[in-house]
Amino acid sequence: MKVVIIGSGPGGYVAAIRCAQLGFEVTLVEKYNKLGGTCLNVGCIPSKALLDSSEHYHQLITGFEDHGIKTKTVLVDLPKMMHRKQEVVEQNTRGIKYLMKKNNINVIHAKASFKGAQELLLLKVDGSEERVEFDKCIIATGSKPNCPSSFNYNKKRIITSTEALSLNEIPKTMMIIGAGVIGIELGSVYSRLGTQVTLIEYMDKLLENMDPDCTKELLKTLEALGMLFKFGRSVQEVSQISDSKVQLSHQSKQGSEHTTEVADYVLISTGRRPYTEDLLLELAGIKTDDKGYIKVNNNLQTDNPHVYAIGDVIGGVMLAHKAEEEAVFVAEVLAGQKPEMHYHLIPNVIYTWPEMASVGFTEAQLIEKGRAFQVGKFPFKALGRARASNDLDGLVKVIADAQTDEILGVHICGARAADLIMEAVALMNFKASAEDMAMLSHAHPSFSEALKEAALDACGKRALHF
Ligand code: FAD
Repeated sequence: MKVVIIGSGPGGYVAAIRCAQLGFEVTLVEKYNKLGGTCLNVGCIPSKALLDSSEHYHQLITGFEDHGIKTKTVLVDLPKMMHRKQEVVEQNTRGIKYLMKKNNINVIHAKASFKGAQELLLLKVDGSEERVEFDKCIIATGSKPNCPSSFNYNKKRIITSTEALSLNEIPKTMMIIGAGVIGIELGSVYSRLGTQVTLIEYMDKLLENMDPDCTKELLKTLEALGMLFKFGRSVQEVSQISDSKVQLSHQSKQGSEHTTEVADYVLISTGRRPYTEDLLLELAGIKTDDKGYIKVNNNLQTDNPHVYAIGDVIGGVMLAHKAEEEAVFVAEVLAGQKPEMHYHLIPNVIYTWPEMASVGFTEAQLIEKGRAFQVGKFPFKALGRARASNDLDGLVKVIADAQTDEILGVHICGARAADLIMEAVALMNFKASAEDMAMLSHAHPSFSEALKEAALDACGKRALHF
């Protein structure tokens, strides 16, 4: 079977590998010269490289003295930091290129659009065109930043995450529209480097859908870092008023109070939109919903039975690992297997410091469902490992069913939450109880002991160290 995949992000390249493993003849089409999509080039990987570099600097100037380490003058070499970030990106994209070769995947750098139900037109980087027929096609074209026209996005001083990952100076002031994951991650980077960062958020609190105890902790630490949050504000207009200044006007939700502020940069992080512009979906009978996401059924099949879609372009949580799971799922569906998607068990992580991670239901969602539950909590400050490293902020919360004790949700704000959450994902996958989690021996001293203690607290208030 001939499978053509459009887009080489974590959805597309993983689909290509799994399809090749299953014995299909695979072609991967990517419009840019580099493979890896948003995630590797202008998303997950470069943002994490800058988050790590900036956190090292921040620790050096604020945290090391407590450990008995005195430093003299510490300077940021931004070009070097950006160069390292780019090296990390290049290593990863080279890795994908190698994997494509290893799996005998035919890679074509071209912009793909549909010509018919089973045919694509490829406009190659050198200007030439090629028509390609397929038995099955997987669309994995991802998403782009959402920039309302009144924000006057110009890639110079009015920027999105893409440009914020490659600035050639540390701004004195930066205003960020939207205190979502991307806004607070990139806000953390520049705040740690010395920028006065102000976030303007329409909602009344931080990350409204996440656990409120965790977001309260996170907000406290981000404010302690110097980040300024203005909640319940709606941005009206952004305009560049000189070579080096941008003006932003915002108002209260009711419109009763207006403010105009000036900053060196305005970063627009008001979500992302599906990227389908060039595809000419209508020529293949593929439909989108009212927000532009490609419509799919439970098998991730579009209205055209020969075409499937995965990743950001179909909506849901816009995460790289969600795209990867869908990629494997579709490849196995094409092979006639009966794979399953467990959307409920996809962990959500925010790479601030402390990190935040969660999986499963929040208390608010369970209340809405009318499901009885019990909650266990454990603060990091009561943990020997956290005291040793001086990472005292945050907590672990375990939510379990009131009758069966099955773990229904785990929420963590604290050091290494991104890695800790995997214990919860694994246990929840096997429908473990809070007591199951509590009975596991957790290495001492380790941050993971906070999970055991929160689980003990959830299954009968039996926490040992709090
Ligand atoms: P993409 O990665 O967007 O890839 C789509 C590809 O399709 C692109 O390469 C594009 O060029 C190509 N394409 C589009 N149209 C065509 C066409 N017509 N022809 C040929 N090629 C085409 N997620 C996480 O899980 N963890 C994180 O830490 C994280 N951090 C992020 C940080 C930032 C700043 C951003 C912006 C995003 C972050 N994300 C993170 C989200 C993550 O990057 C996306 O969820 C993920 O990349 C989606 O994968 P995808 O394969 O659906 O699409």
